[in-house]
Amino acid sequence: MRRIALLGATGSIGRQAIEIVAGRPELEICALASGSRPLDALAASLDVEHVQVGGDLAELLERSEPDVVLNAVTGFAGLPATLWALEHGVDLALANKESLVAGGEVAAAAWRRGGGRLIPVDSEHSAAFQLLEGPEPETVHSLVLTASGGPFRGHTREELQDVTPAGALAHPTWNMGPKITVDSATLANKGLELIEAHFLFGLPYERIEVVLHPSSVVHAILRLRDGAALAHLGYPDMRIPISYAVTYPERPATPVPALDLAGGLTLEFGAPDDETFPLLSLARRAGEAGGTLPCVFNAANEVAVSAFLAGSLPFLGIAAVVEATLEGTESSPAVELDELVGADRAARELANRLVSAHEVGVA
Ligand code: NAD
Ligand code: MG
Repeated sequence: MRRIALLGATGSIGRQAIEIVAGRPELEICALASGSRPLDALAASLDVEHVQVGGDLAELLERSEPDVVLNAVTGFAGLPATLWALEHGVDLALANKESLVAGGEVAAAAWRRGGGRLIPVDSEHSAAFQLLEGPEPETVHSLVLTASGGPFRGHTREELQDVTPAGALAHPTWNMGPKITVDSATLANKGLELIEAHFLFGLPYERIEVVLHPSSVVHAILRLRDGAALAHLGYPDMRIPISYAVTYPERPATPVPALDLAGGLTLEFGAPDDETFPLLSLARRAGEAGGTLPCVFNAANEVAVSAFLAGSLPFLGIAAVVEATLEGTESSPAVELDELVGADRAARELANRLVSAHEVGVA
């Protein structure tokens, strides 16, 4: 039996994880956590002993003694759980990319000390993880992450001026929680994923590339030094990477149908539009600068996305708030969780001031 602590149980990833676990007799959920109710009915139906709404995730993990932590919380709130699993050498199936982005260097150090497994759930990173299991490291030239481009792919800045939350939430290929769906529309999601890939695979930023690929069938491509490129394909269905992460290295069957090749597949690629969607290059710069700046990028983005969803910030204001928050913040080294919590709080305060003062130049 593998005992899974499922954090973020009521969300998009959480619900799909419950479906995967229900289909596997060797998997059992030992703990459930979410940010808000209802969770009791779910816990009763799954017969789970340790249940928690909000509160201290590390304490829940301590108590429930899982074999695998599936971190599917959204945002910086997932960081203590990521650090707990890495520090204790407990397998971490990580969907909560924000924790690795904000906590990168601290998490990397905890992972080295703990020595456990970190299996990404994010589809591109699950694909990259699988691709990287083959070739010798010195033969790897670079990693390519694909981006659908979201609902506003091909739009001009002018056309983006008055897009609504409802428009941003209508993702063409993936059905996900609201925060990541808005991040996909701004390309901040691919920025977060770039930093996530850097910390997961230890690749320098200049060896991680992002390409647009509207149908989301190719999840990642590994370029090798001889000019060959290996690709990972699959329908955009998170049950595959969730199953892979919680059962690694068994890879049992899932309910997802096989790719229909005879029916035809569209594999189109292109360059992202960095001018219209600046959050990808802002993330790259924050990642390269390192220290607390990825944490600042993440915090400002979380604040700006909530403000956009609440109707108090225009779509183009999201990137403007993140850029102004980064400009208004000095980078400092991040060694301890406390330093990250401080950097996160300061960045949120600045970003909130920028949102409410409308100081950001949204042209
Ligand atoms: P969601 O909004 O649907 O669900 C988030 C879950 O986190 C909910 O259960 C919520 O109650 C819980 N939560 C929020 N704050 C919490 C807190 N303080 N303590 C405990 N639980 C808390 O989000 P989602 O789409 O499932 O995404 C979850 C994570 O997975 C995000 O980091 C996202 O970027 C990542 N991810 C999601 C997808 C996807 O297809 N949905 C794909 C790749 C990566
Ligand atoms: Mg992804």
